[in-house]
Amino acid sequence: MTFRAHVLGSGSRGNSILLETPETRIIVDAGFSGRQLERRLAAIEVPPESISALFITHEHRDHTQGMGVFARRWNLPIYIARATAGSCSALLGGDEDIRFYRAGRPVDLGDLRVEPVLTCHDAIDPLAVTVRQRQSGLKVGIATDLGTPTVSVRHALQRCDLLILEANHDDVMLRTGPYPWSLKRRIAGRHGHLSNRAAAQLGTELHHAGLAGIVLAHLSQECNEPGLAVEVVGEALETKGYAAPLRVAPQDEPLAGLDVTEMAAAIRSPQLGLWDSASR
Ligand SMILES: [Zn+2]
Ligand SMILES: [Zn+2]
Repeated sequence: MTFRAHVLGSGSRGNSILLETPETRIIVDAGFSGRQLERRLAAIEVPPESISALFITHEHRDHTQGMGVFARRWNLPIYIARATAGSCSALLGGDEDIRFYRAGRPVDLGDLRVEPVLTCHDAIDPLAVTVRQRQSGLKVGIATDLGTPTVSVRHALQRCDLLILEANHDDVMLRTGPYPWSLKRRIAGRHGHLSNRAAAQLGTELHHAGLAGIVLAHLSQECNEPGLAVEVVGEALETKGYAAPLRVAPQDEPLAGLDVTEMAAAIRSPQLGLWDSASR
């Protein structure tokens, strides 16, 4: 019944997340080359032939780069929004098994349920997804590339056991950093990326007693630092009494073995203990 997440890598040079149960393995986004995806899977000892499907959130290259190559090589279906597929046809050879999915229509695959929700980002049909292990009900929310966390995104991400959440930039580092003004405006805009401060705000809003772990993702290498992101988000979460793990997903190597089943049990056990002693 184990449910695990592995961030194969996250940042502006590539994003990919593997979710696995004993029955089903899926990859959300294929933002590395086919070879790089294989290398990262090998590093966590997951054979590519054991993957059931790819799910793509939007057409930006840091989410799609290897999708065609990887899907063709390993004969995998690609779940993708229709408009997204149209806008990155150069990456597709035409003979892939393309399955259209869209916001509000969950997809069941093995014992996983993938629920896409529309986000606010400068792509043609950008999606965030939650992935639920149907039997246990455990839920992982994956939300990066968010300009603004809309009501529907905030609603979809409620009551997650594990949240993989964008903390793209520090406001000051972005303002004073090396990017041209137009790019700074794009990143900080309504259709850009979440800052540490915005991630902290969203994290505290989504906090609930069962939230068993948070992974900060899609960190900018020029305009953020892992320690700073953890400090800003961690401080805000502390005010809510959050004491579960808070990690950062690196760009260059996998953050592997996030055992959602174990994390959820750990967060629930103190309450079970209380309940046990009260009932004695
Ligand atoms: Zn991205
Ligand atoms: Zn994007």
